[in-house]
Amino acid sequence: MSERFSRADRRALLRDDEPYLSQPINVGGDSRRAEAHVRHLVRLFQNDRAPSPCSDAIAHLSALAERTVPVTTSGPVACRRGCSHCCYQRVTVTAPEAFYIANHIRRDKEKVARVIETHQRTKGMSHEQRLAAHIPCSMLVDTVCSIHAVRPSGCRGTMSLDVEACIASYVNMSSNDIPMPLDHIQTMNVMRVLLGAAMALVQFPMTGYELEGAVVAALTDNAERRWFKGEDVFAGVDVDTSAPPNFLSAITRMAQHVAPSV
Ligand code: SF4
Repeated sequence: MSERFSRADRRALLRDDEPYLSQPINVGGDSRRAEAHVRHLVRLFQNDRAPSPCSDAIAHLSALAERTVPVTTSGPVACRRGCSHCCYQRVTVTAPEAFYIANHIRRDKEKVARVIETHQRTKGMSHEQRLAAHIPCSMLVDTVCSIHAVRPSGCRGTMSLDVEACIASYVNMSSNDIPMPLDHIQTMNVMRVLLGAAMALVQFPMTGYELEGAVVAALTDNAERRWFKGEDVFAGVDVDTSAPPNFLSAITRMAQHVAPSV
């Protein structure tokens, strides 16, 4: 591991990072912008004066995705408001995303009741069992995502070029082959690497949890504070299989590269 930068060098680097933080990410370009975002995410996670450091970090990443996707994603995308075939599957979230969503819905009694009820109905179901049961995501209201602005990265990453393929996959379960824009997959993978690297640098694994179980856990008293102190507030929540090795090694490489500068 390289030696940590001096305090003066780290300060200068943060100043140099500033312009990159409001720009789209340059997928496939040099890693300078990506490094700036990882450093920024680390600072957000470490800000213990913020009411919800996780919400600040995920809000930053979500805004970055909103700026980047229109620049990088091309092709005749089939996804439309009101098309919700993909919202009957098991959704995976990271812990910071669960806190972000929980903070967004916690004052909405109807939404909280719906997430608890869906959690009770779906707990322990596999991906296939949940699709077969055709139980909608607790955030789906009248075929529209009621948390669109704060939806998980897995949902942001779901994009189809063919609605018939979505129906075959999510409704009929007769196929598992949905054509997606390659540039969109690459963009969302970069977003996941940024989050994974920042989480690794603040010593948290990028575990994937089932959405409803994770949000119910994140809604409990002071869950985020307890999680930062090391308590496993997601104990018992269904964990989804971890990311493929090449993805994990991309996270490790980025974290090791940025580590001396944070
Ligand atoms: S969070 Fe929103 S976009 Fe994602 S599955 Fe649920 S309703 Fe659909």
